[in-house]
Amino acid sequence: MTLRLHNTLSGKKEDFKPIDASNVRMYVCGPTVYDYAHIGNARPVVVFDILYRLLRHEYGPEHVTYARNITDIDDKIMKAAAEAGVEISEIAGKYTKIYQDDAAKLNALPPDEEPKATDYLDQMKAMIEKLIADGHAYEAQGHVLFHVPSMKNYGRLSNKNKDELIAGARVEVAPYKKDPRDFVLWKPSTADQPGWDSPWGRGRPGWHLECSCMTEDLAETIDIHGGGLDLIFPHHENEIAQSECAHGKPLANYWVHNGYLVLGGEKMSKSLGNIQTIHGLLKKFPGEALRLTLMSAHYRQPLDFSEEAVKDQKRRLDRWYRITEGAKEGEIPPAVLAALMDDLNTPKAIAALETEKNPGAVLAGARFLGLLTENSDDWFKGGVSDGPSGEEIEALIAERLEARKAKDFARADQIRKDLKAKGIILEDGPGGTIWRRTD
Ligand SMILES: [Zn+2]
Repeated sequence: MTLRLHNTLSGKKEDFKPIDASNVRMYVCGPTVYDYAHIGNARPVVVFDILYRLLRHEYGPEHVTYARNITDIDDKIMKAAAEAGVEISEIAGKYTKIYQDDAAKLNALPPDEEPKATDYLDQMKAMIEKLIADGHAYEAQGHVLFHVPSMKNYGRLSNKNKDELIAGARVEVAPYKKDPRDFVLWKPSTADQPGWDSPWGRGRPGWHLECSCMTEDLAETIDIHGGGLDLIFPHHENEIAQSECAHGKPLANYWVHNGYLVLGGEKMSKSLGNIQTIHGLLKKFPGEALRLTLMSAHYRQPLDFSEEAVKDQKRRLDRWYRITEGAKEGEIPPAVLAALMDDLNTPKAIAALETEKNPGAVLAGARFLGLLTENSDDWFKGGVSDGPSGEEIEALIAERLEARKAKDFARADQIRKDLKAKGIILEDGPGGTIWRRTD
């Protein structure tokens, strides 16, 4: 079976052929650590964790290197630090730790490397010097800019034409740009801003440059570069421009992008006031329920996220925990692997687990997906914080039945009322009592 991945560069699903099967290299753009990450940022964490697990399965864990960077110098971090009256390293350190802890609760394996941008200042300055020397960049008023017309095939990842590229670059419009598409490699810092000495004055790097230098540790050409769809332009387009003009070879052979996460069809945004943080959601739901929700749509499709959807996936996990209770882990169902090998088709992999009859195979398949990692007692004790778990409800139903048998109708009625208050409806029928949630 060959792994197939949709490559943004070609717009097609392609067979994955690593440069060196004994060292498969993947780089994914990580967080800018200035605040709690929102649930949309959890999607690439889970998507690329699945890809990482699959690569480790195919090539052996010791033959895969996965790097996910930490952007710890950025204007947003500077703003948060200034507001809090602390150094940027304090803000960055705090939110890096929270991000890593939250990713662990989503059962994402830690990447092999988590490079921090501020550890790469020397490489960044060296890359800028090379780009200037080769006529790809120029200095202007304390800034260094990449000169887009110096690269013949700029724009081929996002497939944008020149007018679209100009419109997209407008956010950084400045009188010293030779071409409106030119973008910043280095910018000056004022005395009260964090900065590093450089041949172009004290300043700090542009965001795109950071990733171009952090990928260099893996190789000049890596196998897979990943991130969210919103990073294709300008971030990844500009990473390609910098790295390819500096090295004279492709930055990555496969570009893999995950789709947006939406809430009730709307994009999450601060102005709409519908931001949900990973950290906040993990207080309400088990990490595995959030993880399964994030896997419930194909990674390239939009994912409509809601708490209702998480509750549905929690119930699915309840069921899987019940049927695999006491089972010994068996073989991963071939249909699960086949679905994942076909461009990470997680909905199909989940469907394959649903039809699997052997509890040991269900357990193996689910664990491969980073699920069913708790023992079932702990899982059922956890439950959803805003409602009782299935196990708790079943226990109360049994208690109510006992109470009725003992003619303690007051107690039986109380149990029914308590459950109703928690959104659980009991229906007595000829086959016994069944329950359902009203929410
Ligand atoms: Zn990046």
